[in-house]
Amino acid sequence: MLENQELRKAGLKVTLPRVKILQILEGAEDKHMSAEDVYKALLEAEEDVGLATVYRVLTQFESAGLVVRHNFDGGHSVFELARGEHHDHMVCMESGDVIEFIDEIIEKRQYAIAEKHGFEIVDHNLVIYVRPKKKKKTAE
Ligand SMILES: [Zn+2]
Repeated sequence: MLENQELRKAGLKVTLPRVKILQILEGAEDKHMSAEDVYKALLEAEEDVGLATVYRVLTQFESAGLVVRHNFDGGHSVFELARGEHHDHMVCMESGDVIEFIDEIIEKRQYAIAEKHGFEIVDHNLVIYVRPKKKKKTAE
């Protein structure tokens, strides 16, 4: 099984909860899940894994570099698999939805700004907090 290999590669022993949680993260439609989301998905799949275990395993995954944790404002931590390209996030303050985006101009500007101050970028993490745009009332 692919999950088993991935766990071993990350230096983790293969246990059932770890495999199940990795499967949930890989199969999820929403790439950004809180521990509660993972727990609910496990319940739906009729897997008997407690919430405390979910927290523990996600923290182990984070330490092993399998997942990245985001601490967005106004909510709990969300986790996503640590694969794929760099991207930034937009977080809806009303629904909690997380939208990924990448913008070449923003990327380039950040390098230029760091450079201007005599630095080079080690890492960056841009989060834009949003809410649904209100529809303008049309005058009659
Ligand atoms: Zn993301």
